[in-house]
Amino acid sequence: MKKFLMVICAALFFMTAPAQAENLPETIINADDLADEAGEVAEKFYTTLTKAKGDYKSKVRPILIEGAMNTETEILIRALENPVAYRDFNYLFVAGTYKNYPVVVARTEQGLANAAASTTLAIKKFNPIAVINQGTAGGITPEFNIGDIVIGEKSIPTSAYKTAKSLKGAGVDFTTQEMRGVYAYDKATGKFQPYKEYLADPTLLKVAQNVADAHKEFNVTTGVIGSADWWMCWIDYMDFLHEKYGTVCEEMETVAVAQICQNAGLPFIGIRVLSDNITINDDYAPRSATVAQDFVLLVVEDYIKAIRK
Ligand code: SAH
Repeated sequence: MKKFLMVICAALFFMTAPAQAENLPETIINADDLADEAGEVAEKFYTTLTKAKGDYKSKVRPILIEGAMNTETEILIRALENPVAYRDFNYLFVAGTYKNYPVVVARTEQGLANAAASTTLAIKKFNPIAVINQGTAGGITPEFNIGDIVIGEKSIPTSAYKTAKSLKGAGVDFTTQEMRGVYAYDKATGKFQPYKEYLADPTLLKVAQNVADAHKEFNVTTGVIGSADWWMCWIDYMDFLHEKYGTVCEEMETVAVAQICQNAGLPFIGIRVLSDNITINDDYAPRSATVAQDFVLLVVEDYIKAIRK
């Protein structure tokens, strides 16, 4: 009987699964292809970099700048003098100098776990003085356009919630959720505690805002970045996130890096450029990643001056 039921279930699955896949709405595009295509030149360029022999040595602690994809790291890596490529756990790190100051650029790969792992390895390998995570994000409210920059005064783990119970068949009400936060080390209590939000380092925030004030060619907002391993396109849900947590954009890395920097007691900021905004249209522009990198290089330049004082 059990076997018979299993056969029926398997048959039903195979009959329905392909039909479901075919019925996916067209708006579910695979943005990876577009991002990969835009990053092809960088991929080739990275293979030409001098490979590291032995451990990183620098008397001065470097600034660590991160981007998840080739498109989000190419300008930064090209800006480095004497770049040397390190690989650890298959993550790429490129160390060099910028404005005569040591800088390491990490390609974290996409998603929270990769960002956390890459950051932890980079902290161990390079002992950075501060961490800037930057890259692309999706706007979740119509007032922001592709190419606009968000300086993250905070980042929020938007998928770290517990929902109210609902019974089988009752449907799903996504508004019945409470943020639980994600755990990081709290020096004062000596314990890991849940953080519902992570604040940007005040000096990095000030420096970034000053750069925004001085460079009107960038359209910059200070706001809350929401991170989760999802590409959310449910506009009602975006509205809910915006109203409940104040997030202005969504992406997949910032909060994980903020969390690791909290563990390590390191200054951190997230800075994002909008590559898409489903509340306006369905476009996705991975090459907008250049805007964030140009802006971040200015931030780094001024941050170097700030820490040298
Ligand atoms: N892997 C995805 C798309 C690649 S773009 C897919 O299969 O379709 C995702 C990367 O860009 C992530 O690193 C994330 O931080 C950023 N990103 C840009 N727009 C995003 C959005 N609307 N939602 C989530 N992440 C976004």
